[in-house]
Amino acid sequence: KTFGTSASREVIATLESAGYEAVFVGGSVRDHLLGKTASDFDIATSATPDEVKGQFQTTFDIGIEHGTIVVLLEGEPIEVTTYRSENTNTSTYKKATADVPFVQSLHEDLKRRDFTMNAMALTLNGKLVDPFGGVADLQSRIIKAVDNAEDRFNEDPLRMLRAVRFSSVFGFDIELNTFTAIATKAEKIKQVSIERIKNEMDKIWTGSHSQKAIISLLTTGLADHLPLFPKDPQLLINSSPFVNAWEGWANIMLVGDYSVDKVVKAYKLSKKERFYLIDVRSAFMNRIERIYTNDDYYRFPQEVLVVAEKAFSAFHPEASSLNESEIAHAKAELPIHSKEDLAISGKNLLDWKNQRGGHWVGEWISKIESAILHGNVQNEVDDIKEWFLNEYTSEK
Ligand code: ATP
Ligand code: MG
Repeated sequence: KTFGTSASREVIATLESAGYEAVFVGGSVRDHLLGKTASDFDIATSATPDEVKGQFQTTFDIGIEHGTIVVLLEGEPIEVTTYRSENTNTSTYKKATADVPFVQSLHEDLKRRDFTMNAMALTLNGKLVDPFGGVADLQSRIIKAVDNAEDRFNEDPLRMLRAVRFSSVFGFDIELNTFTAIATKAEKIKQVSIERIKNEMDKIWTGSHSQKAIISLLTTGLADHLPLFPKDPQLLINSSPFVNAWEGWANIMLVGDYSVDKVVKAYKLSKKERFYLIDVRSAFMNRIERIYTNDDYYRFPQEVLVVAEKAFSAFHPEASSLNESEIAHAKAELPIHSKEDLAISGKNLLDWKNQRGGHWVGEWISKIESAILHGNVQNEVDDIKEWFLNEYTSEK
């Protein structure tokens, strides 16, 4: 069985027949050796970005300041990066320049990578290039910096968080020297842009070994320099592993009792993430007061209810709590699931009252929804009409 997709193999073959060197590098080689299927196949080459562009019809300059060209072949975007050495980038990648001093050798390129397991290459005909013992470290399940760990972390402090990320994803231990270097340099994580930090933390939250990773954040001291990270993370550990990254952010918020906007601002979360956090916070507040009502089951999406419930039981291990399928069942049992399920619409209300539209229509639709959810009225046109006219007059 050959490695890579047909498009990525063709990119390498094309570069090779034009006289350049080109190999698979990084995550895809690592994942292959771990027996996992990689999602993307990054390529490193001796060709300069301009030379890469000359070989293919459709290319994009995304990341060209780091020497990366995206080649689009058979509908697949493939990142092709010119061999570089560490001094081709700044410590934070923030101020990358266009005049990157590219290097001629693959070995130099591999040397500037973060961990031994990420510093391997695979040629088109299947030859593995592993100058730093990546295979051995994969077998011993350790995350080990290439060469001198302190140097690697000085060059780019984000790598410290990447070490924790890989331990979350693979469950590997961080090798002792590498770990000690992180503990020594932890404070430098503050030099890294929050976007890059957030990106790694998203992956920490979703790793199946996130509990181990959260403990590593604490024991290395990285946690002390990450915004809003809880001092006592036991509650965070109790609610992990997380089903997705959003759940991680929700738990940062709930465990620290921070407002939605505090978390959103600290980590530059997206609008969608913000709306999700708003929902989780209100579901959680409701849950603290009482078990979920039909209004909660109706109003909040399943994943919000599950996350709020999980956080609740992390806070109150003594209280009985509902599991995912019990929540799904309660939701399924609702007489209506959205406004679309209502037997009536605003137009019925206008007809029945023979009155102009206004705020009152929306308000009464909500009251009707609630009455149906609480079993006070059936979701049938005649029943709703009778209930509505009755309530409307008695409210006057
Ligand atoms: P993933 O499976 O998440 O894509 P990955 O190892 O491929 O993991 P990427 O961020 O896609 O991670 O980076 C691809 C490769 O580039 C890495 O395997 C590593 O060799 C190198 N790399 C990425 N970021 C850094 C960094 N901050 N410092 C050094 N090398 C890096
Ligand atoms: Mg990758």
